[in-house]
Amino acid sequence: MAKKFSNTKCIHCCNYFKELTSDHVFPKSWYPNGTPEDVEKWQVPSCKECNNKLGKIENELRIRFGLGLDPNNKAVCGIIKKSLDALNPKKGKSSKDSTNRKIKRKIIIKEILPPEEIPSNSVIPNRLVDFENYKEGVLIDEEHLNFFTKKIIKGITWIASEEYLCDYKYDIEMLIFQHPEDNTFSVEINRCKHEVYSIGDGIKISRIVAAEMPTCGIYEIILWKSIVLHGVVRLRSTQEVA
Ligand SMILES: [Zn+2]
Repeated sequence: MAKKFSNTKCIHCCNYFKELTSDHVFPKSWYPNGTPEDVEKWQVPSCKECNNKLGKIENELRIRFGLGLDPNNKAVCGIIKKSLDALNPKKGKSSKDSTNRKIKRKIIIKEILPPEEIPSNSVIPNRLVDFENYKEGVLIDEEHLNFFTKKIIKGITWIASEEYLCDYKYDIEMLIFQHPEDNTFSVEINRCKHEVYSIGDGIKISRIVAAEMPTCGIYEIILWKSIVLHGVVRLRSTQEVA
């Protein structure tokens, strides 16, 4: 059920609104089949504009992520099908919807890269599971990934402590390592005492926050036990703020 939020700030733009929408930190359609029904899905206050903007980015991201996931991985159950359906005109709910799916399909097909053209420094998918059949690739927009990583970090911070990571005060940097496990961030997070937030197989967030400033910290975000993203939250210097 959608939560109701009013008379508070949007967690994304930090502006105050009388009426707000409920935004799922991990998008509703990204939960794989088999996610326990009775688990409360994280919802946060968002203004309509931010919610719509992020919703569009998330749809685009889900299609591209879905095309690169391993169909044998149980944690992605249903996600690949949703990506394929989103590109299938036959699944359209109206003629306009079918046309949109057709256009999206054309765009993606045009963008498919043969193995020799995939950039050697490509980091997504940086899967935890080996996917032998991986032959072709589609690129994922870095800006979209950045928006998404920030959204997750802002969201889980609000869920954990109702604190806002407003852009004028905090800098959130996304980091993607080529190797999902053998990187300084994951090693450090797993070595130290860390907090874990997870729902089913869809999402797991591990973080270490600073003792003296719990809004700052380092994050590891794992999607569908497959894709690993990292982020760091820092307080902007007073000069930057000014
Ligand atoms: Zn907003």
